[in-house]
Amino acid sequence: MESTLRRTWAEIDLDALAHNYHKLRERIGADVKFLGVVKADAYGHGSVQVSHLLQELGADYLAVSSIDEAVELRLNDVTMPILILGHTPKEQVSRLIKYHITQAVSCEAKALEYSEEAVKCGGILKIHIKVDTGMSRLGYLCDGDHFETGVAGICHGCSLPGLDAEGIFTHFAVSDEPGEDCKKYTEHQFDLFMRVIEEVEKRLGRKFALRHCANTGAVARYPETFLDMVRPGLLLYGYGEFADELGLLPVMTLKTTVSTIKIYPAGTAISYGGIFKTEHTTRIGVVPYGYADGFFRCLSNRCALMTKEGPAPQRGKICMDMCMIDLTGKMGVDVGSEVEVFGKQNSINDLAALAGTIPYELTCAVSKRVPRIYIRNGKVVEKELLLRG
Ligand SMILES: *Cc1c(COP(=O)(O)O)cnc(C)c1O
Repeated sequence: MESTLRRTWAEIDLDALAHNYHKLRERIGADVKFLGVVKADAYGHGSVQVSHLLQELGADYLAVSSIDEAVELRLNDVTMPILILGHTPKEQVSRLIKYHITQAVSCEAKALEYSEEAVKCGGILKIHIKVDTGMSRLGYLCDGDHFETGVAGICHGCSLPGLDAEGIFTHFAVSDEPGEDCKKYTEHQFDLFMRVIEEVEKRLGRKFALRHCANTGAVARYPETFLDMVRPGLLLYGYGEFADELGLLPVMTLKTTVSTIKIYPAGTAISYGGIFKTEHTTRIGVVPYGYADGFFRCLSNRCALMTKEGPAPQRGKICMDMCMIDLTGKMGVDVGSEVEVFGKQNSINDLAALAGTIPYELTCAVSKRVPRIYIRNGKVVEKELLLRG
């Protein structure tokens, strides 16, 4: 459905995405493959559009969270390899095979189920073995006393009929955190991962084609972990401190417009709950951006949106569909003027920090009623409204 609105929208700068991809490619070198993480609708940027660009630029792999996300890409002309990081019910194995989708395998029980289903439908399911080296989420437990059972389980999984173990991977828990303890933890995870691979490859008498573990933090800080392929998400979209350090650009700019302006006398309570009262004559603008669009209500009365005349403090409680900003003295900002919520002027990192969260949560929260406007070579190439047409 094409958007007819000019209310609030997310500009997705595909030129910035291409820039980030090329920069990261330079960083990892020619011998390392690039997997782009496009789960959660590419962190809110639109997984189909982002995947098309990555495919065109020559990325090697994509990763999503679920089979529905993977099939959406297949039905929209994405032909490159796709890895599902999360759980897929065994009933869906024939579809995984039909659509040439690679599945993460995180334990013995799943390896057995997937093998049985693949054999039943007469196909081969490509898998990547997931090793839990300290994230304590998904994967074969291999730390400490679990080393032997973990390695044996992985070897068994890799030998089952109907499965083709193309890769093996693990996930870092604190690679993006500062401090010596986090560095030690990450190094321990990596060391364990390498020991597991060595032992499994020795016992199986074959090598994995794709060993991968480097997420955003590791791509930025631990080059020794690049192995055969890296797996960044956030960096690709250009957010966080590492993106700044590496000269990457923010891909999403969230914009809204001033829909009405009123002048209130001193002592006027603004919005639900009256948590903000004007102290003098105040020029208040309403912008159609509220928590149903993805704003965080916890930011009420303690953040600012960016106008062409500088930051406008947000006043009063943020509502479902709108919020109020203080335009006192900003006479060049009028009804219809553009206001940036986050993006190139108003850093998403600062807004996330104010909300006590991480940039990931802010872009993922941009809801489907916010149209995505795609920009390529400086021109608008597509407007997509995610509401049903
Ligand atoms: C989400 C995810 C990534 C990407 O993480 P970033 O911090 O965005 O780089 C990589 N690997 C796995 C397994 C993930 O779930």
